[in-house]
Amino acid sequence: MKQGGQTVAFHTLGCKLNYSETSTISRILEKEGFSKRDFDDEADVYVINTCSVTDNADKECRHLVRRIQRKAPRSLVVITGCYAQLKPKEIAGIPGVDLVLGTAEKFNIAHHLREFTKGDSAKICSCDIEDISEFNSSYSLNDRTRSFLKVQDGCNYNCSFCTIPLARGKSRSDSISGILARVKELEAEDVQEIVLTGVNLGDFGKYPASHSAEHDRQSNFLQLITELENKTQIARYRISSIEPNLLTNEIIRFVAESKKFMPHFHIPLQSGSNRILGDMRRRYKRELYAERVEEIKSHMPHCAIGADVIVGFPGESEEDFQSTYDFIHSLDVSYLHVFTYSERDHTKALEIKPVVPNGLRHERNKVLRNLSYMKMQHFTNQHAGQKRKVLFERFENHGMMDGYSDNYIKVMIPFRREFANRIVDWTL
Ligand code: SF4
Repeated sequence: MKQGGQTVAFHTLGCKLNYSETSTISRILEKEGFSKRDFDDEADVYVINTCSVTDNADKECRHLVRRIQRKAPRSLVVITGCYAQLKPKEIAGIPGVDLVLGTAEKFNIAHHLREFTKGDSAKICSCDIEDISEFNSSYSLNDRTRSFLKVQDGCNYNCSFCTIPLARGKSRSDSISGILARVKELEAEDVQEIVLTGVNLGDFGKYPASHSAEHDRQSNFLQLITELENKTQIARYRISSIEPNLLTNEIIRFVAESKKFMPHFHIPLQSGSNRILGDMRRRYKRELYAERVEEIKSHMPHCAIGADVIVGFPGESEEDFQSTYDFIHSLDVSYLHVFTYSERDHTKALEIKPVVPNGLRHERNKVLRNLSYMKMQHFTNQHAGQKRKVLFERFENHGMMDGYSDNYIKVMIPFRREFANRIVDWTL
């Protein structure tokens, strides 16, 4: 297609990593002369960045493409992201899809659009995930007050429920010097808070064999955060999520003493039953998780701790679920992200029996979401009346503005322009 003067609109499904990548793809196309439009507006090109964790990725994609066809039937529809890598043919079969870009190709979108001529069937540009070793850096900008900076991608673990390694490939990282350079760019944009993101962030420091810098080859996550603390001007950092077995005492102590890293951890738990953790092929037992939480709280009693949990994993008996509930109830965590297990092709979990009926999966989800609500209320009440530093959002939302304290307590106040994108001492 001809370029220059064209318009493009984006829709992102899934995680923070996807948001940071959509933002980067958008900047790539803006440099090529595209102007950005809202997804609800008419555009020449629509890009949907998909997720493989979303339950109904296929249904959602079809729905979005139908919406596009109704408002802009002549436009070009590009589908990329994890689901596009995992099921390219299925996606290419959706009426209205023009171009499917796999994991390695999404950052070459400008080239693909240049070469593309609209035809009767969708074109697939994708390669085998085993062949992917490049790291493509990404960050989100301007969409929200916080910027999500991708520093690591892929995963070498083989959790039995997860398709991410099949969609994103082996664990690999950005170089520390590259990350420092990107942080400088974000400083220049007046970004106040950066959320370090990755698929398996604690595994930071793995590089493809072709990466030659010796300094990088010996780096790890603790070195990365130490350099960010010492060499950058950004006011606040958060660590998006870190596996309990990779969250060392050194990292916890570092955050406790840091001026820039916020007292907030998100640590996937997935189950409170050691038998289920084993079947999930997780690399820790619940005792280690409890130790991590205790260690954090002994250094930072005010620290927010979030946990991911999956309910309805195959073989999860009433007893297993109860022990998950009791375990979380006893833990000093502040909130949960609860996921209902759903079957994924090419995963080991498909072989585990008995399957938990769907209705029961949803009931268990509800029980844990209630527990999460209680935990969050308790955590918030513990800090009521305290003065904490709150970063307020840039944008007005129906006359109001949101902000988050250092320890991730949400504050909502009537919009005050002087607070936008600023850190304010605020009494909770
Ligand atoms: S650690 Fe496990 S759940 Fe997380 S991305 Fe890797 S394989 Fe998936």
